[in-house]
Amino acid sequence: MARLTRLEYAANIVKLRDEARFSTICIHAGQEPDPSTGAIITPIYQTSTYVQDGLGRHKGYEYARTQNPTRAALEANIAAIEKGKAGFAFASGMAAEGAVMTLLQSGDHVVVTDNTYGGTYRLFERVLRKYQLDFSYVDSSNLEEIEGAIRPSTKLLFLESPTNPTLRLTDLRGACEIAHARNVVVVVDNTFASRYVQRPIEFGADLVVHSTTKFLNGHSDSVGGIVVAVKDEHIEWLRFIQNAEGAILGPMDAWLVLRGTKTLTIRMERHNANAMALAEFLAAHPKVTRVHYPGLPSHPQHALARKQMCGFGGLISVQLGSLDKARTLLEGVRLMSLAESLGGVETLISHPATMTHASVPPERRQAIGVTDDLVRISVGIEDIEDLRDDLAQALDHL
Ligand SMILES: *Cc1c(COP(=O)(O)O)cnc(C)c1O
Repeated sequence: MARLTRLEYAANIVKLRDEARFSTICIHAGQEPDPSTGAIITPIYQTSTYVQDGLGRHKGYEYARTQNPTRAALEANIAAIEKGKAGFAFASGMAAEGAVMTLLQSGDHVVVTDNTYGGTYRLFERVLRKYQLDFSYVDSSNLEEIEGAIRPSTKLLFLESPTNPTLRLTDLRGACEIAHARNVVVVVDNTFASRYVQRPIEFGADLVVHSTTKFLNGHSDSVGGIVVAVKDEHIEWLRFIQNAEGAILGPMDAWLVLRGTKTLTIRMERHNANAMALAEFLAAHPKVTRVHYPGLPSHPQHALARKQMCGFGGLISVQLGSLDKARTLLEGVRLMSLAESLGGVETLISHPATMTHASVPPERRQAIGVTDDLVRISVGIEDIEDLRDDLAQALDHL
């Protein structure tokens, strides 16, 4: 490549992403030194409007719902990370999903991974059904179920892999092939893996959504969402809807997520390593009934995990035999915090049946494996010895 100045290199890095390597993209893509001061970090453009030079003469920024430079930097950054063409940042992961669903019209049908995030299920069932959208929930780990659920009116396949909280996988390449043969658009919620662990667009996904609240921000101090698109028709619509509905990510949060993505590689390496070590520890523990983790050879889709993922992610779930035992563990840990959410540097432990999946009816919870004895751990990047000791002392009380 021709020798570029520092500034030219930064300005071009989104285009250069096919040549630049992953960590370099995470740290640099979308971010140029601030043109007025040279500040290396993109400023928080906390402004609602921009002064124009004259009628119709401005610097490309008119009103901050429509354009904000901090948000634009984050959108370019994550688009490059996911190897998409454009990104659109929203006020939350749910707002991002809501925006994607506006690609549809009443009468359209969607095939959905059955144990998808509880909030996704609530959005589809309690909100979007009012607009005559129809949803079928299938065990997408079985490609035949996906194929069998597609109808003439099916417009979208909405996949989550690994799933929350039972960590089932979908063969993303196989699912995309089936969907595309029937002209169905594929959306992958990549929140649980992040692009370090899993590359949906390379497997054929048309749209990738994230709750940036989780691994991308990584520090449990911001709520946000992003949609990454590859097709011009989707990009055009998402740009329109982001402005028309206005559920944008604010500049402070965009800045926090930009700070987060810089360390994505080293955080994910450590999340992967810590989760693997804890999964092995738990699998060997006599008081644990069952461990769900794609990195364990006992996981029914371990071979697919090795093929499709780089490392196995930071989420583990364990079954303990009863709600009482689950409660004892959840209340007995000292270092791990009892809290919803995931993907932060600190380890969180939660009870999906009463926390993240409380909005899912009990019969459905049973059907998708969200049993009352199931505990989910979002493994942070603390020292593994301390995490292991904490679980060991809490398990002693069972
Ligand atoms: C958290 C989460 C969401 C929703 O994101 P918010 O930022 O909380 O709105 C969607 N999908 C998955 C897999 C999640 O974990």
